[in-house]
Amino acid sequence: MSQFQRFLEALHEKYQPLAEGTLASYIPELTKADPGWFGISVVTVDGQTYQVGTVDQTFTIQSISKVFAYGMGLEDHGREALLHKVGVEPTGDPFNSLIRLDEDSKRPDNPMINAGAIATTSLIKGADPTERLNRLMAMFRRYIGHDVFIDISTFMSERSTGHRNRAIAHLMLNFGMLNGAIEAALDLYFQQCSLLVDCHDLALMAATLANRGINPATGEQAVNPDYVRDILSVMYTCGMYNFAGEWAYRVGIPAKSGVSGGILAVVPNQAGIAVFSPLLDKNGNSIRGLRVFEALSQKYGFHLFDLSMGKCSLLTALNE
Ligand code: GLN
Repeated sequence: MSQFQRFLEALHEKYQPLAEGTLASYIPELTKADPGWFGISVVTVDGQTYQVGTVDQTFTIQSISKVFAYGMGLEDHGREALLHKVGVEPTGDPFNSLIRLDEDSKRPDNPMINAGAIATTSLIKGADPTERLNRLMAMFRRYIGHDVFIDISTFMSERSTGHRNRAIAHLMLNFGMLNGAIEAALDLYFQQCSLLVDCHDLALMAATLANRGINPATGEQAVNPDYVRDILSVMYTCGMYNFAGEWAYRVGIPAKSGVSGGILAVVPNQAGIAVFSPLLDKNGNSIRGLRVFEALSQKYGFHLFDLSMGKCSLLTALNE
């Protein structure tokens, strides 16, 4: 067994007993998760997989979908046009906050909070709701490398209880940040959040971003490589809710978490990493997930500003 695999197994053993935190309950379906679920998956850009624990249990992707929908928004509209409609400023507020939406703000702050994600999803191109959903699903399929499905119970659960998201959409409509079709936009947003994935799928999706948009398992280009930098930038500054700053400080790689307990992170040019464990802290981040990423980043020098590892690709290239 490789040293890396042994390290992952030791982390899993160390943090499995950590039973702090709570399951998300504001979406009733999410309370059905088992608090003991805990998986770690790593997929490298050359297609190697290392994993341990609950790696093939499916769960709904939730907010992690925002990363990939943003990529599609960039492809559909281009960087400048999308920036005009959805900003890239971190808020320091919870993901479902509406306090910054007002007459002066003109656009939601960033695509990783619900307001910005609903606005981004509303911009996905297509002749009708079916075509928009099919395009979105085809995009997820390119990252995941196999057929994808929506969990209908979670979709219905979100749709019937998502009053806060509905309020956000109505406020944005009032301020001219959304066009009129808000029920359709909300449905598509709830559908993308209800996409079923497992921990390995998330690691492969992250590895695809680490590999300039090419899925390392299938060789398929999942997203235009010109936009990978933009996607990773908003993940880095806004991906971890109101913990984004501390995450950047402690772990130092672009990441995104979701209320069902997944966290995916990208080590550029090296690997995609995912942790799944549904017990969350007060910010909504997986508690075991935070611990695992901190340990991995520390041990392998993943932090983008960890200069002690001495990796400098430019100098290597110049000295060749
Ligand atoms: N579907 C969830 C919501 O809109 C996603 C939130 C999340 O994962 N943070 O509230």
